[in-house]
Amino acid sequence: MPHTTSAPTDPLPQEQCAAAYPELLAERLLDGGRLTDHECLELLRTPDDATFRLVAAASRLRRQHFGATVKVNYLVSLKTGLCPEDCTYCSQRLGTGAEILKYTWLKPEEAVAQASHGIAAGARRVCLVASGTGPTDRDVDRVGSIVTRLKSDHPDVEVCACLGLLKEGQAERLGSCGVDATTTISTPPARTTRRSAAPTATTTGWRPSAAPSTPASPPARG
Ligand code: SF4
Repeated sequence: MPHTTSAPTDPLPQEQCAAAYPELLAERLLDGGRLTDHECLELLRTPDDATFRLVAAASRLRRQHFGATVKVNYLVSLKTGLCPEDCTYCSQRLGTGAEILKYTWLKPEEAVAQASHGIAAGARRVCLVASGTGPTDRDVDRVGSIVTRLKSDHPDVEVCACLGLLKEGQAERLGSCGVDATTTISTPPARTTRRSAAPTATTTGWRPSAAPSTPASPPARG
């Protein structure tokens, strides 16, 4: 592991890669220090082979601030199976032989009832997911009406929507209905190349006022 002569409270020189020093950065934060913008950007570029070191360093901060507390997210699958895509890793893909449930869109009252079970059990976030390439505008309206009902019954619950590739304006429409975040999987744009696509999950928290009208990379889901 590389070492540095910098004291824990000192910003790392720009020529040093912050991703190589996650333990040092965690130490600084535990001592009440801050990271520079440059260091934050460098951490986002952490190479795969350093991921576990970063996770271990971040865990020290998590334990200090949250101890053994966990946040429960509850997933409601609005539509399962019946997908026209063929992502290799997915049991819902076209032609799958996996023994999974297959159903089209839940009715809003069914979805809200399912989510309410999770909230009653302590969930603070509900993740609404649907199989498929991406939603039509009608699907977005459908999910929007579910979220409106859900937030009416449970105003404090966070809602994440994971619906596949969103077209321009759809994220904003979901946000206006109360969706707090979208979870995405980045894949190559061409459907024909999806078979070999390795998924990269990201969660994009956003607020309508801050949401870009055109995301830098199109949100997708699995
Ligand atoms: S990952 Fe998503 S788009 Fe791909 S096959 Fe599964 S449900 Fe369909």
